[in-house]
This record gives sequence, C-alpha cells and structure tokens, in this order.
Amino acid sequence: MRVTLWGTRGSQAAPGPDTVGYGGNTSCVEVEVDPASRIVLDAGTGLRRLGAALPSAVRRVDVLLTHLHMDHIQGLGFFAPLFRPGFEVHLWGPGSATVDLRQRLTRYMSPPLFPVRLPELPCALSVHDLSQADVEVPGAVVRTALVCHPGPTVGYRLATEQASLAYLPDHEPVLACKRFADSPQWCSGLDLANDVDLLIHDAQYDDDEYRQRVGWGHSTLGHALDFAQVANAKLLMPFHHDPAHDDDTLDACFETTASARVPIVPAREGETFYINNPQPQRV
Ligand SMILES: [Zn+2]
Ligand SMILES: [Zn+2]
Repeated sequence: MRVTLWGTRGSQAAPGPDTVGYGGNTSCVEVEVDPASRIVLDAGTGLRRLGAALPSAVRRVDVLLTHLHMDHIQGLGFFAPLFRPGFEVHLWGPGSATVDLRQRLTRYMSPPLFPVRLPELPCALSVHDLSQADVEVPGAVVRTALVCHPGPTVGYRLATEQASLAYLPDHEPVLACKRFADSPQWCSGLDLANDVDLLIHDAQYDDDEYRQRVGWGHSTLGHALDFAQVANAKLLMPFHHDPAHDDDTLDACFETTASARVPIVPAREGETFYINNPQPQRV
C-alpha cells in the first residue's frame, strides 16, 4: 500500500513561505493498491496536483469523502479526470438525513459557486451514498463509520491482505468524555482504527486552542496519541494542521515526540511512502 500526501492542512489552504515544510494544501491523500486505479481520501485543494500527476495507466479513481466541509471538497472542480471522456470516477461519501450525496455535492458543483454542473461532466461518474456496510474498491476493502465532527462525517479504514490504514482527519473523540477513554466500546472511530498499521488522525489544535474550541470537531496531538494508544495503532500520522500553524510552530510541536507512547511521523505534503516502511520520499 503506497501512500502519497497531496494536502495535509485543515480548515483552509495556507500556502506561503512559512508553510512549505508541512504544506499549504487541504486534505487529500492518494493510496495505491492497484496499478490501474487509485483510492483518494478527500478532495481538498491537494487534489488538483494529484489529478495532474496520475499516470496514463490509471483508468479508475475512487474518491472517498469524509464530509463536505469546503476544505475536503474544494479540489473537486479542478480534478482533471472529471473532464476526461469515459474516465471512471466514483465519488463516495455521506448523505444527510434529507438529501443524498449527489444533491449535496451539486450545491458546490453548480453556479454561482462553480461554472460546471455535475451532470455536464464528460467522465463516467458514479456517486455513492455510504451506508455502514463495508464496500469494495479495486484492491481494498473499505469500512466506514460516522464519527464525532459537526455535520454528517465518516472516517475510513482501508484494508488489503498486506496492510491497513485508518483515516480520521476531522475528529473529536474526547468530546463528552470525562476521562478518555473510560468506555472504549463507545469511543468514536475506534472500530476503524483498531490494530491498524497507519492511523492518519486530526491533530489540529494545541492545548490552549482546544480549550477555546471544544465541540468544533478537532483534536490536539495529545488526544490523537491517546486515541492511537487505545486503538493499538502501530504508527500515528498527525494530520489536518491548523492554517495558523507555520513550519516553526509545527516543528516545535513535534520535536518532543520521539519518545511518544506510539511512534509518530507528522504528515508533510509531498511525501510518499509504503505502509510498514514509512521512510518518506519527496514526490
Ligand atoms: Zn477539515
Ligand atoms: Zn470538517
């Protein structure tokens, strides 16, 4: 399972000279388990570069959306495969109680927010509302579950015979816990992350920021570590960096993690690696 990080930032894109190290594009992760297809986790602004870099052998992409906040869908309109006749694109994500995923996405993919409507796209497009059942995409089984974040939001677990990955970019599992995690069986997202090889998890806030933003749907690095430990994850990748946190801030945040309870590799845009051998290379 080869993983490439095209966007690691949360909430809003934050390009600039002081965010080059960790990246300015919003959530987008490419997973390769099959040479003719790709799995893409979220469609943040990183999706544009991913689409431009796809090799010609790839004929199908499955885009798994956690939720429809703008930082997770803003790259969709600039994803080149959507405009290639016959290219197979599958969009997966949560509907709401009253509106399905296609209608929810159309609110963005239509004027005045975007000039092209979903039905006008020339690709072979399928839009799938997620249920709680596992689904299969080429090369992997995908498990989903609703998780703690404002609005309908899911997390994902991808599994092959060789490796597993859990993706929870926007997640506040400590909300309403007196002491985390007193009752693990009730913990948001745990079923997705149990014993996983790689856990990509929200670590947006520092402790002071979190105290002012309880209920906003995000975690601190400490929360992510607690969650990873309870889940018995083998490796934690802190993700969804706050747009106000520049490279120096994030370096300071992660410099003391070498002796953490769970091994940590912070998410940096532009790095690619194989699960079970997380030595990153630049793309
Ligand atoms: Zn987000
Ligand atoms: Zn969100």
